[in-house]
Amino acid sequence: MDALFDPILAPIVDFASWFLGAAERRLGTSVRFEATRYFSATLAVFLLVWIVFEGSLKARKIPARGPRTFEARSRQIRREIFYSISSVFVYMTMSIFLFEGAADGIFKFYHDPDKYGPLYKYGSFFILILVHDAYFYWSHRAMHHPLLFKWTHAVHHRTKDPTPFTAYAFAPGEAAVNFMIIPLYALVLPLHDMTTVYFLWFQIFRNAMAHAGYELMPRGWARHPILGLNSSVTHHHMHHEKMTGNYGFYFTFWDRLMGTEHKDYLDRVDAITAGDRRVEPNAIPSAGG
Ligand SMILES: [Zn+2]
Ligand SMILES: [Zn+2]
Repeated sequence: MDALFDPILAPIVDFASWFLGAAERRLGTSVRFEATRYFSATLAVFLLVWIVFEGSLKARKIPARGPRTFEARSRQIRREIFYSISSVFVYMTMSIFLFEGAADGIFKFYHDPDKYGPLYKYGSFFILILVHDAYFYWSHRAMHHPLLFKWTHAVHHRTKDPTPFTAYAFAPGEAAVNFMIIPLYALVLPLHDMTTVYFLWFQIFRNAMAHAGYELMPRGWARHPILGLNSSVTHHHMHHEKMTGNYGFYFTFWDRLMGTEHKDYLDRVDAITAGDRRVEPNAIPSAGG
């Protein structure tokens, strides 16, 4: 019997013992970093936008579909935090493989800031944002395909009226797709340790802001040829309302290039930044495609 099972069991046991050893080495760092990142960014945006400056931002609250009770909102936030914690677990687990792969030289992480010069060290932060924007747009559109939607992106779209806590409200499959930007980038291009850390902090704050529920972009920016390339809160909020279109993350560039930006996007931003409460979400398609 041993001869029958050994070829199957031996690699599993080897992998399990390798993984437990790696987890022991890496888990403390991963837990601290991922949990701190999620809770500090979402809580900071929530406290600033929903509590501290709520009075002055009141006119910029993006109108919700129908009345929202305190109980319904609390239920939504509890669900979002539950799925976000599951996403943090996915990131922690995948970080273990990333750290081990980096130690083995599979990924091109580097520590010496002079290795590629300061221009690349700081420039790679912006390159990574541009690469991530393209990765997010296309992986997001792929996850809207009916074959993938239910297993990946449906959890995120249970929220129609986002809060900062929606930022990481993903099914584990979507969390894994989102994590892959760092290993994919570092497989091809060098990435300084601190550039990675700054990027991950920037990314979670930008994510929490995209789900802020209040428009934060100054009035007039959305129609500006350059400033309007920056994606507003309304841009992603409309994606949650309608479950289609406005797939981009940092920028409006890909949606404009591919014709997926909602035609009434600029009118919505104008109305919200002017405090016009008469503009409500348009008829919302029910499909998730
Ligand atoms: Zn979202
Ligand atoms: Zn989506």
